[in-house]
Amino acid sequence: MTLNIQARAKINWTLDVVGTLPNGYHDLDMLMQSVTLCDQMTMRPAQGLTLSVRTAGGAFVPADESNLVLRAARALQSATGTTGGAAITLRKFIPVAAGMGGGSSDAAATLHGLNRLWELGLDTAELERIGLTIGADVPFCVRGGLARAQGVGERLTSIALGKPLYLVAFQPCRGLSTKEVFTALHEQGIRDEDRPDNEAAQRALERGNVRLLAKSLGNVLEPVSRQMRPEIDRAIRAIEAAGAEGARMTGSGSAVFGVFRHAGLCRKAYQALRETYPSCRMMRTAESGVVIEEV
Ligand code: ATP
Repeated sequence: MTLNIQARAKINWTLDVVGTLPNGYHDLDMLMQSVTLCDQMTMRPAQGLTLSVRTAGGAFVPADESNLVLRAARALQSATGTTGGAAITLRKFIPVAAGMGGGSSDAAATLHGLNRLWELGLDTAELERIGLTIGADVPFCVRGGLARAQGVGERLTSIALGKPLYLVAFQPCRGLSTKEVFTALHEQGIRDEDRPDNEAAQRALERGNVRLLAKSLGNVLEPVSRQMRPEIDRAIRAIEAAGAEGARMTGSGSAVFGVFRHAGLCRKAYQALRETYPSCRMMRTAESGVVIEEV
């Protein structure tokens, strides 16, 4: 049996820091969304665990034990006592260090895929728990779709999206380190006007109201990232000028996205933007984070 797996990227419709948790981590409040842009993986049974990685565009992703795919496989082995092996291949299409959850989504796809390949019978909640030991965004990627994510990102409430939405997204410059962005945020603080309106954004998403959604979007990390990388600032303006209803940075950057009233407007903007930004991609919201096909 071979599994062909899509590991889907995520975007943050919103990202707010609402406090500090007892363990010192940031208490977050976010609306996270799976999108159709994805990394491609294959898995087949084998003696040991192996991983081969192919990247596009010169981004560096390690193929050793530090790769989140192998870390997820090891975490699943130790949580279940399994000694099974797998030969895994990973083709990266999600930009790296972009705030699009690339590594987290590969980890989530590994958990779902190996759960199937090794016939472990774990449910999504158990995979989310194991995922959290790998990274804060992994539980969301395991669950997928649209969710309000709180705490470090592990407290998830799934939300029914009113209608599919069309987006463009790309990384206008090299990646940003999440740690550096948070350090800069601590130095500058958060202005109230930079906070998203999570309640209004959630209602807009439930109703599929793009105009209302655009008004309520926000990411408190965006102002510092726009200062650290002026390319992010320029890219957001370019997406707005291309006709997006709203444009924002996702996660801690450096990728940006724009959302459109309908597919036609999105396609027009995509065609215009890729002249300046060849890495620009058009995508749609997705109902799951991982798609597995058995061949
Ligand atoms: P998030 O949105 O969850 O904050 P990100 O988009 O900021 O994630 P990633 O693309 O997941 O960041 O990768 C960050 C770092 O993790 C990379 O610099 C890379 O060295 C390392 N890494 C380990 N495994 C992977 C993987 N499978 N894919 C991408 N990066 C990986």
